[in-house]
Amino acid sequence: MFRKIRIAILLLVLLFVALNTLTESVYPKQWRDSIQVALYPVNADGSEAAANYVNSLQQSDFEKIETFFDAQAHEYGLHVDRPFRFTLAPALNSVPPLINEHHGRMDIMWWSLKLRWFAWRIPKPPGPMVRIRMFLLYHDPARATQLPDSTGLQKGLLGIAHLFASDQQNGSNQVVLAHELLHTLGATDKYDLSNNQPNDPDGYAEPDKQPLLPQEQAELMAGRIPISTTQAVQPDSLRQVVIGPLTAREINWLK
Ligand SMILES: [Zn+2]
Repeated sequence: MFRKIRIAILLLVLLFVALNTLTESVYPKQWRDSIQVALYPVNADGSEAAANYVNSLQQSDFEKIETFFDAQAHEYGLHVDRPFRFTLAPALNSVPPLINEHHGRMDIMWWSLKLRWFAWRIPKPPGPMVRIRMFLLYHDPARATQLPDSTGLQKGLLGIAHLFASDQQNGSNQVVLAHELLHTLGATDKYDLSNNQPNDPDGYAEPDKQPLLPQEQAELMAGRIPISTTQAVQPDSLRQVVIGPLTAREINWLK
């Protein structure tokens, strides 16, 4: 009896995953229209600072990211007006499932399933059909100087961005959000995971620059501006960021 129930539950879970993967991981082969992205702010640490910040957020706060992608897409000859369009959804009352730093393969699978289940139950905002959903987890900068790693999942078209609840960090928050957003479309990291140094040449904004170092801008999926062979700094805003050719190819901006 119990065995049958267990098998039935397992089959239901598998069915959910299969249907969810079919409907939620379709990404554009051709960029004809804008992709609609819903942004769900969350107070990540339960602090008053994060609560106030989340309450103060407005749709227009994210416009700079739309214009950044628009300008970058035009560099690659794309004829779509704003490849991404954001809708700020109402704040969530609960934090989405997170994964701790020391995880194995099974933990990641289980967490990904829980996150997709969490996302599936949240209503999509009204308006054009939302394709990608990003959870914006705001933290009080007075409590945490370093934030957990953010994630973007291609399967499920979901992302979790850990951000600072501070206007001063608005620029770097936008870089994090833009980076995770492209992960959901299959863009890969272009830095060395052991020391955060951008990969040469794919993680360099100007791989042909003479002298090569220091660079002045960051490649979005490298996330940092290489200063020397052992040093790289985080950009303060998207003005210091470009999308390199390999990233452009991964998201089908470049054939
Ligand atoms: Zn990344």
